[in-house]
Amino acid sequence: MTKNVNLQVLFHRSVGRGNLTSFWLESWAGPVALKEKYPQLYALDSIKHCLVMDRFQISGGEGIFSWEWSRPPGSASELAEFVACCGEVSTFGFSPSSDKWIWGGYPTGTFSVRSLRSLWVSNTFSSLDYVHNWNNLVPLKLNFFGWRAVLNRLPSKTELIKRGVALSSSVCGTCGVAEESVDHLLRDCSWAKEVWSSIQLWCDIDLSNVGSIDCLLNTGHEFLKSPIQLKVTNAVILTTLWAIWKARNARVFNNIETPPAKVLEDIKTSSFLWIKNRGKGIMVNWVILHIHTLVLRIISPMVKLGFRKILMLCGDYMEDLEVCFDS
Ligand SMILES: [Zn+2]
Repeated sequence: MTKNVNLQVLFHRSVGRGNLTSFWLESWAGPVALKEKYPQLYALDSIKHCLVMDRFQISGGEGIFSWEWSRPPGSASELAEFVACCGEVSTFGFSPSSDKWIWGGYPTGTFSVRSLRSLWVSNTFSSLDYVHNWNNLVPLKLNFFGWRAVLNRLPSKTELIKRGVALSSSVCGTCGVAEESVDHLLRDCSWAKEVWSSIQLWCDIDLSNVGSIDCLLNTGHEFLKSPIQLKVTNAVILTTLWAIWKARNARVFNNIETPPAKVLEDIKTSSFLWIKNRGKGIMVNWVILHIHTLVLRIISPMVKLGFRKILMLCGDYMEDLEVCFDS
């Protein structure tokens, strides 16, 4: 994840009263940590991991040092370091607020997924003409996973062998008939196909003509008319890819076989909770049609239009709406 991106540079400490920052070990007063700048003093300090506020605090408008030496500085060079260090620390711009991390990847200093993503694109995938559609309805890890799947950067057996890992076979452990490439294990394997088939039924969508994971995640499916429908469906697809990968890992690393029906239930539960909790303004209504079948209906932003308008627009979804409004 951090390839070509130096996170230590992108995040830096903003020191307020020095309550969270290491006095010697972090670069808070300047670009170099004080232990590098004043090594003889650092060697004499009894508590190497002390905080800034352990060594210096402002009280009543005056700066107060509190040292805990193994022995006091005595030589000329130690005293020279001591004077310089005291001067540097006492003139630092402290404030009463708590220390915090500042994100240097964006001018406001506020961390955002968008700014990290743009750094990621410019640093890691600058040579690849691929822009991933970020989906905030699901966790960050699912977006990264989908991204890596499209770029064929998941450690499937085929990819591992290409990178020189000694495996006895590249054949898929689930079906035993094809090489375990990323496309195969996530989409083409008979086991994965069973999961996708259930997803199509559940979401009432047609994925039969979608030829790649890239298309699955990044094309506008014709059967979905609104951007919200597209985004929610994309979230379900990301959740499905992730669930298939987790089930594959459970089999490979823990010898646990997961039936497609169990994976489907996990997908329903996870995607429902994520979309419900993360989709501000999106109202997802799940109606139980059969014991193990849920149907997804997206009502918002029509909710804002008022109940009468909703009924006009939703027409044949009346039953669903009644369930929704009664609950
Ligand atoms: Zn297979």
